[in-house]
Amino acid sequence: MSKKIITSRDIRKTAGYKPVIYIMRADSIKLLLLFFETRIGKPVMKDLLIKNIKKLIQIEDENIPFVSGSDMAHLPCIEDAYLWIKEDKIYRFGTMAEIDGEIFTPGVEVIDATGKLVMPAWCDSHTHLVYAKSRDVEYVDKIKGLSYEEIAKRGGGILNSAKLIKKASEEQLFEDAMARLEEIAKWGTGAVEIKSGYGLTTATELKMLRVIKRLKKESPLTIKSTFLGAHSIPLAYRGKQKKYVDLVVTEMLPAVAEEQLADYVDVFCDVGFFTVDDTDRILDAAARYGLAPKIHANELDYSGGIQIGVKYKALSVDHLEFTGDAEIKALKDSGTMPTILPGAAFFLNMAYAPARKMMEAGLPVALASDFNPGSSPSGNMQLVMAMGSILYRMLPEEVIHAVTKNTAYAMGVDKELGSICIGKKANVLITKEIPGIEYLPYAYGENKIETTILNGKIVCQNK
Ligand SMILES: [Zn+2]
Repeated sequence: MSKKIITSRDIRKTAGYKPVIYIMRADSIKLLLLFFETRIGKPVMKDLLIKNIKKLIQIEDENIPFVSGSDMAHLPCIEDAYLWIKEDKIYRFGTMAEIDGEIFTPGVEVIDATGKLVMPAWCDSHTHLVYAKSRDVEYVDKIKGLSYEEIAKRGGGILNSAKLIKKASEEQLFEDAMARLEEIAKWGTGAVEIKSGYGLTTATELKMLRVIKRLKKESPLTIKSTFLGAHSIPLAYRGKQKKYVDLVVTEMLPAVAEEQLADYVDVFCDVGFFTVDDTDRILDAAARYGLAPKIHANELDYSGGIQIGVKYKALSVDHLEFTGDAEIKALKDSGTMPTILPGAAFFLNMAYAPARKMMEAGLPVALASDFNPGSSPSGNMQLVMAMGSILYRMLPEEVIHAVTKNTAYAMGVDKELGSICIGKKANVLITKEIPGIEYLPYAYGENKIETTILNGKIVCQNK
């Protein structure tokens, strides 16, 4: 039998098979698979080439974990660029002049992005998007002037969501959450962290986490799961808060760890919720199961939440409306990502976290949606970006870092997402024809994203 080395050119010329042993080069295998695809209809993933990109944004040669301080005002970009995606990864990128017809081969699907920007999909590192029903009735109480704490005291707020989720079926929760994921993908979100915390009993917390586990399997979004048993104190435990913390530590955490349902642990460490001591106990127990913290901190007061988060090497501390010099000092060089949630501060009409002061002190800042039915009923990260600029005076460059690289770090996916970097997962956005990056936070009511690509595949296109 003869031996022959097949090249791409041979395969392009050859339609049939010959009785030879084929020693194939990698590029030839790809072409042969394409022949099989047309013959037997089996889907094979094509390379995706996005060409004539007006500006390719948030590029890096090597992954750096996050961007801090004054560096946040600088956004690495290439003009008149291409981006080549192979399978589900970023394969190559550069200027159009560099390729000049080189890769226009069969098997490459080409998208012309003339006049459009291309950038990494948003990472939303803080959401509660598995929930049973909206809480629009409480919204009216808020309009009438009741505070978040007053609504919580009347059994509303988180406890209201807990009541509703207990009755909901796992299937219904899954369907509703899937629809929310599809919606946020249209607005450019490619990765999302989802918390439990509306269960507040072992069984219902596990139910929520199982729904998140199924979402991870069935949704194209990259999902991280956080156990938030200590979200609020259930009515049955009012006056005996320590007993509820016992339940979280001795029953919920072991059960969550046993089924491997969570990537991280969270505690609402704030006035009227869990104390620093409670948080200390929960994070200490979680560390024994290998669960790193991402915690709710300093939303309602100088709660000590930031410091306790830093003590346990939290991936992020979130909210941060009450952040002073002591908190900034604790965060400096800590590796904990300060994460601001503009949607909640806007919706609750609260003070805004001192984003500029944090960046001037050299800290990184991340922005996430806090998508939840009570205090931030939107997962629209483009709106979060607009709020970052309008309410927190962040520059468009700073805002883009805050919703890509820095949130990727805050949810532990910075090695695979958050920038245009060779080898990273191809979660990429193509905008409509827009003037420049400034237009992203400026046109706050409009969806500027035309195409969302996740894992190298187009998942939605907006007209
Ligand atoms: Zn939250």
